[in-house]
Amino acid sequence: MNRVYNFSAGPSMLPLEVLEKAQKEMLCYGESGMSVMEMSHRTPEFEEILHGAEDALRKLMNVPANYKILFMQGGASTQFAAVPLNFLSEHKCADYIVSGQFSKKAATEAKKYGDIAIAASSAGSTPTFSTIPETTRSSFRPDADYVHICFNNTIYGTKFHYIPDTGNIPLIADMSSCIVSEPVDVSKFGMIYAGAQKNVAPAGVTIVIVRNDLLGGARPDTPAMLDYKLMAENDSMYNTPPCWCIYMAKLVFEWILSIGGLDEMKRRNERKASLLYDYLDSQSYYTASVDKKCRSMMNVVFITGDAELDKKFCKEAAEQGLKNLKGHRSVGGMRASIYNAMPYEGVEKLVDFMKKFAVNNPKGQF
Ligand code: PMP
Repeated sequence: MNRVYNFSAGPSMLPLEVLEKAQKEMLCYGESGMSVMEMSHRTPEFEEILHGAEDALRKLMNVPANYKILFMQGGASTQFAAVPLNFLSEHKCADYIVSGQFSKKAATEAKKYGDIAIAASSAGSTPTFSTIPETTRSSFRPDADYVHICFNNTIYGTKFHYIPDTGNIPLIADMSSCIVSEPVDVSKFGMIYAGAQKNVAPAGVTIVIVRNDLLGGARPDTPAMLDYKLMAENDSMYNTPPCWCIYMAKLVFEWILSIGGLDEMKRRNERKASLLYDYLDSQSYYTASVDKKCRSMMNVVFITGDAELDKKFCKEAAEQGLKNLKGHRSVGGMRASIYNAMPYEGVEKLVDFMKKFAVNNPKGQF
């Protein structure tokens, strides 16, 4: 077995211990005589898995009792529609902070359902979306039903360095690429959602954490599958849930708890990110253009400044077992996604490779 360091933005690496545990239980889960993949969701064994996943996440993120945890489907992109369908309830207007492609997509989707304003945007920064817009309470319309943000911008490698003050307006956050990477005060948010395929599990389940008082306002034409209240009443089992993904999420949450929870996860993630950013700051061969105070701890974006060299970098890195370093197709360059499961050694190996590549490939050769 020759496992590589996989820097993919998602689906991405899962902790080796978790994969090994899943492998061990793959053919026969507990005393059930079957794989979780073959198990009815209406069995006591699966209910235990589902509630175990929920309990572990509640403990890990310190989710207050007045919030529901839901396991939904359709990826974070489906939440772009579910959010306005459920929450444009009173004034039918909401404000979005646009800090990258995904928050832009979320706003575009929401515009189908109500009066959506862009309260702030970093599209105009140079390079585009290389910073996070600053906001104050007065940035938002007082009658907005909610304010939406994308907490970590996977493509551009930026992260909110503050939690916007929205007063009494519920703050909704897409945390797809940073959930369970560090502690976060859930009580500051009306709702948090995240596709699983970066820090949580294989693709196929979406985590929704929603405050109870926000449930029940969905438009009458909301599809049943997108109605948070209905999902909450049915314990995320209105229909067949993504059983295997929920099982994997449970193992991942338990793994994080076993290493010391989110404080320890943050310590490890900061250590990895610092290694890479400190190197980037110490030299001039590579450029990391993101505003320093908004740097993501999960997605580190950099370029050589020469598209051909970037291509060569990704090709040669892959040959060394450092895979999927190519930046998003819309921005080019390189992106090292160093989620929870990326070991420190993977980042060490990447920095070593970067140093050697810079020496071996002086600029201006192409
Ligand atoms: N939001 C963010 C921050 C993302 O990174 C992604 C996917 N990379 C999405 C939303 C879309 O997620 P999905 O593919 O699960 O619909």
